[in-house]
Amino acid sequence: AKEQGRNQFCEFAPTMEQEAQNRRLLLRDLQQGLDEGEFALHYQPIVEMRSGRTVKAEALLRWNQPVRGMVSPADFIALAEESGLIVPLGDWVMREAACQLAQWREEIAPAFRLSVNVSPVQLNSSGHCVQAWVAHLQDLSLPGSALVAEITERVLLEADKDTDARLQTLQGAGIQLALDDFGTGYSSLSYLKRFDIDYIKIDRSFVSLLSQGNEDATLCQAIIAMAHQLGICVVAEGVETREQHDILQRAGCDYGQGYWYGRPMPAQELTERLRAQHRA
Ligand code: C2E
Ligand code: CA
Ligand code: CA
Ligand code: CA
Repeated sequence: AKEQGRNQFCEFAPTMEQEAQNRRLLLRDLQQGLDEGEFALHYQPIVEMRSGRTVKAEALLRWNQPVRGMVSPADFIALAEESGLIVPLGDWVMREAACQLAQWREEIAPAFRLSVNVSPVQLNSSGHCVQAWVAHLQDLSLPGSALVAEITERVLLEADKDTDARLQTLQGAGIQLALDDFGTGYSSLSYLKRFDIDYIKIDRSFVSLLSQGNEDATLCQAIIAMAHQLGICVVAEGVETREQHDILQRAGCDYGQGYWYGRPMPAQELTERLRAQHRA
């Protein structure tokens, strides 16, 4: 059986050459997609648990490629990072998100906030992108505090002097920082303090443990209590059931995000949702 397994591996796994070719083609298509405007942002509601209101959203990148169809960010972010394309792509995300945010705040919800994913590569690149984001917010008359930058533990682990300075530029403009996928990496509590993190987002893998009926919420409770001790707000990611929501709410979690509240949706759909909420 072992032998057979090895043969199957040889037969079906793409060769390194094929893989390299696939990556070249994907990168070519990514570049073209950026030029041709094939990217869009979807927005996933972030709900304040206390009030049940959608007070924020996370901007999530979507790529509708003419031949490939809908390509998941999981399948292209890594390549965009390795190739550096994440820098112009991320600049586009930032501009698009800020324009949409300005519209929502102007027309419907003046205190609405958007969370935008920022890759370590963007913060490590030597360009002036961070200053450009801040300038763009000013052009739109948006306060920095309207925007949350979601960074990963990787950013903090690898932070050198330049990254530090860029994070400080963001924070100096009032932009808040959220630590994404909290609990999956190696970051120690000292990072939360040192980088003045405003939110942690409890990773989906912990939240999904809450669905096993035993209400074993100890881990989430401990994370929430610790965060609050440090003056940090908590967002739970990947909330899919009412049970998970109830357990987290009882544990004092501040915000929830997940299919239970709403999937990532086109801007127009979130506009309708915000309008309905505003009327209620
Ligand atoms: P993330 O930042 O952790 O985003 C949350 C992901 O979880 C999203 O996947 C979202 O659709 C999914 N999700 C939300 N609620 C639920 C739920 O209840 N159940 C389950 N099973 N999944 C849920 P998505 O949109 O496929 O994005 C994947 C990752 O790609 C993101 O993970 C983020 O790391 C990256 N990404 C997306 N947009 C951008 C971007 O504009 N810039 C950068 N640098 N990365 C991005
Ligand atoms: Ca995120
Ligand atoms: Ca996450
Ligand atoms: Ca702060």
